Amino acid sequence: MSDHYDLLVIGGGPGGYVAAIRGAQLGLNVAVIEKEKQMGGTCLRVGCIPSKALLESSHRFEETQHALAEHGVTVSGVKLDLEKMMARKTKIVSGLAGGINGLLKKNKVTRLMGHGRLDGAGRAQVLGPEGETSLTFDNCILATGSSVTQLPFITLDYDRIGTSTQALSYPEVPKHLVVIGAGVIGLELGSVWRRLGAKVTVYEYQDRIMPGLDNEIAAEALKVFKKQGIEFKLGARVTGAHAKDETCVVEAEGLEPLECDRVLVAVGRRPNTDNLGLESAGVMTNDRGQVIVDGHLATTTPGIYAIGDLVQGPMLAHKAEEEGIAAVERIVIGTSHVNYDAIPSVTYTHPEIASVGKTEEELQESGADYKKGSFPFAANGRAHCLGEPSGKVKVLADARTDRILGVHIIGPHAGDLIAEVAVAVEFGASSEDLARAVHAHPTLAETIKEAALDANRRAIHM
Ligand code: FAD
Ligand code: NAD
Repeated sequence: MSDHYDLLVIGGGPGGYVAAIRGAQLGLNVAVIEKEKQMGGTCLRVGCIPSKALLESSHRFEETQHALAEHGVTVSGVKLDLEKMMARKTKIVSGLAGGINGLLKKNKVTRLMGHGRLDGAGRAQVLGPEGETSLTFDNCILATGSSVTQLPFITLDYDRIGTSTQALSYPEVPKHLVVIGAGVIGLELGSVWRRLGAKVTVYEYQDRIMPGLDNEIAAEALKVFKKQGIEFKLGARVTGAHAKDETCVVEAEGLEPLECDRVLVAVGRRPNTDNLGLESAGVMTNDRGQVIVDGHLATTTPGIYAIGDLVQGPMLAHKAEEEGIAAVERIVIGTSHVNYDAIPSVTYTHPEIASVGKTEEELQESGADYKKGSFPFAANGRAHCLGEPSGKVKVLADARTDRILGVHIIGPHAGDLIAEVAVAVEFGASSEDLARAVHAHPTLAETIKEAALDANRRAIHM
């Protein structure tokens, strides 16, 4: 007889393992199937965490070389120990993966190792190291995440021409790294290797960077990245990339072929639905390959839910987590809630870039009547003390009701500053609420208060 679970989760990333824990908290007998040895998914193994570890280390390397002198701190003989930097990153990842194992154990979640797939309604199979086993379930959450989108005219060798996974572990600093795609991955990992000494050239198909980001903020970001030394080829249609020994050549329409020693392809990610047995259970996908879900993460098959990168919406770890919790609460309690208007997104470059809600372009396209306030970090005392007085906060609010519609920040610690805004949006706050809330002085958060004051034409320090 096959094992039976109240809840089966396929995929142990931030969506899947969080759903498993929440299910166990609510009294379900839960199993999670993960094909990799380490839990934590893309985010922990080859995504959010290792990239942020390298962003932090490379920032310190650059800061020690170039930014300490103005504080009167003289440092000489700064050297890079790349092996040690990588070992630190690996240690952080394995420590956190061990933490997830501990949490699953504490919550009595069964961890099954292997490739999971649906096998008709209420049934699944696990293809693990010890062969194939069958299971039955009352409810299942699909949380298999996403993989790199490939370009049909570029063959990846996963060495010289590779993805973010290789770029998190290059054995030496490239002399010249070409990044294809000026999205979040390209700019975060491009920044890491530039700081460590590589020449970095970014090819982007569109005539701007970071599509989806508020135009004004993206234009400011482009200026900053150029000043930092990243070279951009915008409106560039890449047609090929080849590697021979240690040299790569990148070709793009209307541009001279460019020689470099590594290529990072970062043109987006696609949902993992291969060999998941979706057809066997009648689970349908849309034309982008995403599993179709309703407002409660239910697929087209009763009892089967899908979350995270596998479904529509931003590919973000915290979005996957919230959907995992919502799917379980829908199953057990009968109600669920994810506020898609209040999901922050952060790019961990220097300075950081962070947003919640609608961009100004989206408001214009929808014909919304909005007002706008902004405030520069150049007018913030704390930013000067940090030595980082560049960037701005932009607040967009409904012209009639004053409800906050979007906030966009480029500047120091933007990723932490945006949390206040996400809470405000969750509470349906107005820009006046942000403006009237007392903010400690001197803090970077005062820029948010001042931008909200500016939306009401009352900024004090501008
Ligand atoms: P995943 O994390 O992809 O997890 C899915 C899991 O399912 C994987 O472990 C996979 O092995 C497993 N799996 C797949 N198929 C099967 C199967 N058939 N059987 C068993 N197991 C299976 N997001 C942020 O919010 N912040 C960041 O800073 C950030 N940085 C990133 C940096 C990089 C370089 C990358 C690539 C991504 C980054 N992301 C970031 C995006 C983030 O990693 C994803 O949005 C997030 O991991 C999605 O979570 P998930 O649970 O849906 O899927
Ligand atoms: P992305 O969608 O952010 O950017 C891809 C870029 O590649 C776009 O600018 C696109 O116009 C460009 N592009 C597409 N085809 C191209 C072509 N043929 N030639 C040149 N450029 C081309 O994708 P990504 O950077 O690969 O990131 C994938 C996902 O991972 C994102 O959705 C993001 O949400 C997530 N992620 C998040 C974080 C974070 O939250 N800090 C960090 C990394 C990744």
